[in-house]
Amino acid sequence: MKEQVRVLIIGSGPAGYTAAIYTSRANLQPVLYEGIEPGGQLTTTTEVENFPGYPEGVDGNQMMADIRKQAQRFGADIRAGIITSVDLSQRPFRVVVDGSHEIEAESLIVSTGASAKYLGLPSETKFRGQGVSACATCDGFFYRKKEVAVVGGGDTACEEATYLASLCKKVYLIVRKPFLRASKAMQERVFSTPNIEVLFEHNTVEVLGDDLKGVTGALLRKTDGTERTIDISGFFLAIGHHPNTELFKGQLELDEEGYIKVAAPSSKTSVEGVFAAGDVKDPHYRQAITAAASGCVAALDCERFLLK
Ligand code: NDP
Repeated sequence: MKEQVRVLIIGSGPAGYTAAIYTSRANLQPVLYEGIEPGGQLTTTTEVENFPGYPEGVDGNQMMADIRKQAQRFGADIRAGIITSVDLSQRPFRVVVDGSHEIEAESLIVSTGASAKYLGLPSETKFRGQGVSACATCDGFFYRKKEVAVVGGGDTACEEATYLASLCKKVYLIVRKPFLRASKAMQERVFSTPNIEVLFEHNTVEVLGDDLKGVTGALLRKTDGTERTIDISGFFLAIGHHPNTELFKGQLELDEEGYIKVAAPSSKTSVEGVFAAGDVKDPHYRQAITAAASGCVAALDCERFLLK
């Protein structure tokens, strides 16, 4: 016998947990599957200082544990497990968990998030959270008056480099091509900021560091083969994100980058009864607070849909 669920929430970052708080308070008995990375991207950062309500800042893991607990307080059924397939062709939607457990869901809230792209260097993985970060807005503050590097040549990289330049002594912008891909306005901001040095045609060979201090530098190689080392204590990736939407390809309308399209300002997707919240539908803001807010929107839309 398949399990019947009124609201199934897929994904466990601030968007998913907030949707769980709202739908459980509305007595809709939501079931939430946490997925591959319980707590989402915030669990890979160190301290969160820009989420309202934590005047002293809060550890990313702790904040996710708090929001999770808050949802459970109202009866949200939060489970470990990965959704392995979905069929949105008819209602109730059919969902399979871990390849075997079948669920029929009257409504779905998709909050599977996005993942920052990394270069794939072992040294980069080793120092993740110890100097390597994919979020300057989250972690930049910890590098005040220090030297850091940003990798990437798009709008995010330029925006992050400019932001970091306002806090740090020096910012290297490591760009693999001989030009920036970012908009002209963003490029101008970068070029007119005196403490940003753009290193065109450079790739990172290795992030350098030790167990005690974390990141201490980076070994770079120029396209002409010459190598140089830069001394830095922060290494920021800004080479794009990919939304976690593989499960929904061909079933939900996605944009050209793979983000779920919603009928803004609502959370409604192209399938009635399926709602999207958080980074999975947001390539622009990507903040914990905006994700949480969109989880609330999805929960309210879902509640209205079920009441209809
Ligand atoms: P983009 O895809 O635009 O840029 C990614 C950058 O990373 C490119 O310069 C790319 O290089 C580089 N890159 C990718 N892979 C590697 C790699 N392995 N090694 C080194 N460099 C690499 O992503 P963004 O996150 O910058 O932007 C995403 C979208 O969001 C864009 O549409 C952007 O315009 C928008 N955005 C808008 C903002 C604004 O308007 N304020 C702010 C932030 C983002 P290459 O050019 O060689 O491919």
